[in-house]
Amino acid sequence: MSDIQIRVNGKAGQITLNRPDALNALTYDMVRAIDQALCDWAHDPDVALVVIDAQGSKAFCAGGDIAQLYDTGRAGDYTFGQGFWRDEYRLNARLAGYGKPIVTFLQGFTMGGGVGVGCHASHRIVAEGSRIAMPECGIGLVPDVGGSLLLAHAPGRLGEYFGLTTARMGPGDAILAGFADHFVPEAAWNDLKKSICETGQLAPVKSARQNPPASSVAKHMEKIDTCFCGESLDDIVRNLQNDQSDFANTALKAIGRNSPLAMAVTVEMIHRLRSVKDIERALELEYRFTYRAMEHGDFLEGIRAAIIDKDRAPKWKHALDKVPAVDVSFMLRPLGKDKLTFEEDNTAMKIGFIGLGNMGGPMATNLAAAGHSVLGFDVAGTTANGVQNVASAQEAAKDADVVITMLPNGGILRRVADEVVPAMRQGAVFLDCSTVDVESARAVAELCTTTGVSSLDAPVSGGIGGASAGTLTFMVGGTEDGYAKALPLFEIMGQKSVHCGASGNGQAAKICNNMILGATMIATCESFALADKLGLDRQKMFDVVSTSSGYSWSMNAYCPAPGVGPESPADNDYKPGFAAELMLKDLRLSQEAAVAVKADTPMGAMAQALYAQFVEDEDGLGQDFSAMLVKFEKSERP
Ligand code: NAD
Repeated sequence: MSDIQIRVNGKAGQITLNRPDALNALTYDMVRAIDQALCDWAHDPDVALVVIDAQGSKAFCAGGDIAQLYDTGRAGDYTFGQGFWRDEYRLNARLAGYGKPIVTFLQGFTMGGGVGVGCHASHRIVAEGSRIAMPECGIGLVPDVGGSLLLAHAPGRLGEYFGLTTARMGPGDAILAGFADHFVPEAAWNDLKKSICETGQLAPVKSARQNPPASSVAKHMEKIDTCFCGESLDDIVRNLQNDQSDFANTALKAIGRNSPLAMAVTVEMIHRLRSVKDIERALELEYRFTYRAMEHGDFLEGIRAAIIDKDRAPKWKHALDKVPAVDVSFMLRPLGKDKLTFEEDNTAMKIGFIGLGNMGGPMATNLAAAGHSVLGFDVAGTTANGVQNVASAQEAAKDADVVITMLPNGGILRRVADEVVPAMRQGAVFLDCSTVDVESARAVAELCTTTGVSSLDAPVSGGIGGASAGTLTFMVGGTEDGYAKALPLFEIMGQKSVHCGASGNGQAAKICNNMILGATMIATCESFALADKLGLDRQKMFDVVSTSSGYSWSMNAYCPAPGVGPESPADNDYKPGFAAELMLKDLRLSQEAAVAVKADTPMGAMAQALYAQFVEDEDGLGQDFSAMLVKFEKSERP
């Protein structure tokens, strides 16, 4: 008996998963067979739509065949798993973007790989006994097969909730969370399938559907939103610990069983994908993790404990409250030439990179590792891995599709632009990622317009760590067209890019953001100094503020007090991180801009004055900007 039945039935292409004894778990052969059938039917005029269902009452499909992956991984062969996931994700993308309707019938369990086959279809039908879940974190994987995208778009913080707890969704929950569309009692399924296949129409689905049973998580939405918010897994765990309700305790218990690394990465992925629409980007991100999961993650240990030894006592690599941000970044670093692609990749660009300093160097390296051809130039003769150095900025720019600059300030940017923009070919993109004044950004944009070059100002947040890890955030000003051309590069160098509008708006966003950051860091530091003098323990102060209305990135993610909160430059003797003088530069830019447009920014002005004093008159130069705490520890109110 074959594991899968594929045939044309009336006007429908019908695929039936046929491994009921194994809960229809997906093998590599089944993945390939489904993909082939979809390709065959895509342009077949006799096939109006596709039906995917499964034999047996217990499951539509309970996941991928992980035993197969475990055996090869244990033997040190990671390529089988990498190949399986690559082809499975390509199938998931094909299902999501298929040009004809696909109707899936999801009885019993639909989990993991089953979600990838069942839950990206255009018409997803559930019944009384349907139980849908993304249980990957329990075996050291992240929600994959495009499930990360569904979780990211579930209402409120439901995605974080289902991803981390691996809780099962009943039919009402699945419809609420966006994993299913219609509820049809299972007793009506055979007739429904028959009429869909006979007619090749979707109308029978409409007539058969009924109101779903109430969602069991809907009543907990408020609690889910307050407990599962925050920057990181740490924040969520802390929220749950501080919340004494039964619901929070149960959720915490569930989370306590799962791989901390996988969950920390899951939170990061859901956050990154919140503004993403296309499944290919989610799958590409998931693949970065799964590609590394056997060698560097908890995957093999997770399978051992769950299905090989069945001791249910996995020895995860990290404790729940100790997953360093750098380990999360590592698992999501771009894969370079091994990146998941969905068609033959002929998108390699010629890039000229000017300014290979602390930030530019690693950014250029990531672009080269992703398969682009990068010519680099830096007046200091600096070089970067994978980049071919040339003798002048013009030489780097002349045949380039995109020229990227990462320079110290607006004056230098203008000089470089004057030199290279006239040498660039029409239609190419001039992409400045430095932090400069809005006026310089707009002047460069004007110069580009006169020569037929698209220009973008795209300053970054994320620092040197983000530049190396490929996790920067880009704030982009410029035309839609220029943004679309540069998007694939933002995706390599960063985790997120936001198109903020016309030229100069990227810089505007950057200086507004950093004005908030400068002011909140000062407020956080002076509050710690006040707390010290009032005899309040710093850890207690953190525990309260990080989950109260005083919380901020400065407190929660970059706490200036050593030994408190997640690891930060404070724990490394205030070695930057983000240097105080760079903060001063950004605050000055914000105040110059405020003067130019007559904006009243008293907090920003005060922040600039304090950082100027710290850097120029005290010992702030070369220290992290959070070393402001030491300043307040020493100073006294006059
Ligand atoms: P950096 O000083 O390390 O790098 C700048 C590089 O530009 C240097 O290598 C320098 O030799 C080169 N350069 C100067 N003039 C040049 C010219 N005419 N032609 C070619 N190369 C030239 O500085 P960085 O830390 O890489 O920062 C670069 C930009 O990124 C700045 O605008 C900064 O504000 C911004 N930024 C930095 C951080 C950070 O944490 N370092 C974070 C966000 C944004």
